[in-house]
Amino acid sequence: MSRISGHHFLNGVYQAGAGSSHETFDPATDQPVGSYRDATLEEVDAAVAAANAAQKVWWSMSALDRATALHEVATRLVERSATTGECLTREMGKPYRESNWEGGASASAFRYYAELARHDQGRIAGPAIAGQMHMTLKEPLGTIVSIVPFNFPVLLFGWQAAGALAAGNAIIVKPSELTSLTVLSLMPAFDHLPAGLVQVLTGGAAVGQALVGHEHTHGVAFTGSVAAARAVAKTAAERFKPVLTEASGNDPFIVMPSAPLDAVARGATFAAFLNCGQVCTSAERFYVHTDIYDEFLGAFVEQTKALRIGNGLDAVDIGPMASLRERDRVERLVARAVEQGARVVTGGRRPSAPTSGAFYEPTILEVSHDHEIMHGECFGPIAPVCRVADLDEAIRLANDSVLGLGANIYTEVLEEAFRAVHEIESGIVWVNTPLNDNDAVPFGGRKLTGSGRELGAEGLDQFRRSKMVMIAPRAEPDPEWFPYPDGDSFREQGS
Ligand code: NAD
Repeated sequence: MSRISGHHFLNGVYQAGAGSSHETFDPATDQPVGSYRDATLEEVDAAVAAANAAQKVWWSMSALDRATALHEVATRLVERSATTGECLTREMGKPYRESNWEGGASASAFRYYAELARHDQGRIAGPAIAGQMHMTLKEPLGTIVSIVPFNFPVLLFGWQAAGALAAGNAIIVKPSELTSLTVLSLMPAFDHLPAGLVQVLTGGAAVGQALVGHEHTHGVAFTGSVAAARAVAKTAAERFKPVLTEASGNDPFIVMPSAPLDAVARGATFAAFLNCGQVCTSAERFYVHTDIYDEFLGAFVEQTKALRIGNGLDAVDIGPMASLRERDRVERLVARAVEQGARVVTGGRRPSAPTSGAFYEPTILEVSHDHEIMHGECFGPIAPVCRVADLDEAIRLANDSVLGLGANIYTEVLEEAFRAVHEIESGIVWVNTPLNDNDAVPFGGRKLTGSGRELGAEGLDQFRRSKMVMIAPRAEPDPEWFPYPDGDSFREQGS
């Protein structure tokens, strides 16, 4: 980590940054792990120029050669996942099993898009003029700016980069300030590609803005909070640049009486506390049918109390939050909920051990739907639980949100599952299978969660533009051209 601290990855090499330097800390120990530098405007210009040059080389290759190169990226990501995983756990705290998993999951998206992108590059339409060929040709946008958050830096960069590169683009990634070294550590997986095709510029919001607003970048893939998404979208709009926006979630989790207790309690615990609740699709609001409310709450508490908290490099289920600032924010959310009448069922405090670091106990609250905590994204290890009378009430409350990323329902009644799928206003619905992804199916949200999709065929098209192409086999005059026949005039036709 010390070797890449303070560097960018520019034009195929790690280069010491010239901008101001910021120290970063292991959230499990509060000890420094390295530093990152804010990219300067000169570094931004250099990266953009290198990206545009590399993109031309990349797009001039055959689709088969690009696919082969992307399969090689996937192989290297898997080979590097232990190294990258250790770096990720030291930078933001998640258990090593989860950090290590990200490399393989990211590789899977590269393999999927390597093949999908060469399967078709557009479409031939039935010609509107006999004998001609009329088609939609898909072309890359050019240079994509990727802005990613701290919670899944390898996976989320991988999703964006796989789609963008497969579509023929170059990509410059601006990682989160909390996970710059992790993203930098991935770069050897790309060093067989044209230099400059994949680059990393570290820094804060200003670096992201400089890249998004740059005259010579052509598309943006943003994942993060609603506030930052808005700022990015506004800057991109000045140049009509297409933006993929993947912002916050506040996912409901509905429990119906037919749900098997053990499965639903374990599913709820995983959905609420994976990565310390720092998942965009974390279950953030539990609506539990009154008939099984007490049983469910008891089983949920039992599972939650069994979670082992500690340094993510040890044998634990839950690490610290990503920073002390995030832990303090969650503490304030719980205090506010209690002030509004929430009951702390378990957790609600820092653990007795470890004593240092950004640790917070997985917390279950009994709340009512009008508490503030049900109406914003907590992004921490808090599970607020609310009793509901029936599925109608559960769906009504689930839809009472300005966000619309994912939604969960546990039920073994087919009709209830169908209703949830059709009636919940979200981009994803999981029935009895929380938080799962599939490279072949689009991921994204609606409402203030954003627009656009990652993964699936839709995710590839996010990084391509369409060109209308018409070809006549011979250069012949068209009978529709001048001069118009006298018989078509108003005086001839209208009289
Ligand atoms: P964040 O919005 O603070 O930061 C995300 C990225 O945006 C970082 O790289 C940051 O430096 C950059 N950024 C911040 N302000 C910016 C600005 N004004 N202009 C340009 N760039 C800017 O988010 P975070 O705290 O890192 O991550 C947590 C958030 O990400 C949560 O809201 C979570 O729901 C969301 N998220 C969404 C998805 C999804 O797929 N919908 C996935 C993961 C995380």
